[in-house]
Amino acid sequence: MTLDPAPGTALDPGLLAAIERFAALDRALVALDFDGTLAPEVDDPARARALPDAQQAIERLRALPGTIVALVSGRSLESLTAVGGLPDDAPLIGSHGLEVRFAAGDTRPAVDDADRARVHALRARLAPLVAATEGAWIEDKPAGFAVHTRVVDPAAAAALTEAVRAEALAADPGLTVRDGKNLVEFSVRDATKGDGLRALRARFAPDAVLFAGDDVTDEDALEALEPGDVGIKVGPAPSIAAHRVAGPAEVATLLQVLAAAREARG
Ligand SMILES: [Mg+2]
Repeated sequence: MTLDPAPGTALDPGLLAAIERFAALDRALVALDFDGTLAPEVDDPARARALPDAQQAIERLRALPGTIVALVSGRSLESLTAVGGLPDDAPLIGSHGLEVRFAAGDTRPAVDDADRARVHALRARLAPLVAATEGAWIEDKPAGFAVHTRVVDPAAAAALTEAVRAEALAADPGLTVRDGKNLVEFSVRDATKGDGLRALRARFAPDAVLFAGDDVTDEDALEALEPGDVGIKVGPAPSIAAHRVAGPAEVATLLQVLAAAREARG
């Protein structure tokens, strides 16, 4: 069988061959980052949605036997549930692997009371710095929070990022600090998307995993891939991924190609 992407899209032959092999497996886990991968980046994270073609392909894949589709995101599970477009029984990894939902009611708690107190103290210390920078805001996360600077003047954003990082590490040297696109995130529990991917693999025991992501934190998931898996970098940034696509439109195309190949497998 030769896979045929829609005209006008650009998936390279190596990626098409990898999708073809992956589509033929009995048990396939498709694990996808959300923002910048399924959904184009937007200023208001609450308005992010998967591209319609990606959403439709995911629904087709979910309807097939032996096909698991999971989202693996830096968002909290609450936020990912709100924007992710998947039903309650879909597996979701939130907060970079810290929050794990295998299905509705089947979740792993992220933090304890001592963790919550630590986050509260740190947030109280950084909030005035964030409030003093126009456009910056704090997103609460299960084991910490993120300081967002997407709509902040670039020089002010850089200054704020440095200031909150220094203040946070002075207050709580054991913190995990993680840089993302236009944000810096502080956590009192460490987990990565690689941990999330390993949890999914252990639970669902797929023959192989396909993972796609665009951000630096997705490299942890790509590092957790094994021989036979398919790793895809979205966008131009450096990556250890074996494959690359340009952006969310190409991710939608590859999911459509995968869905068609898996449907054809019968
Ligand atoms: Mg992303």
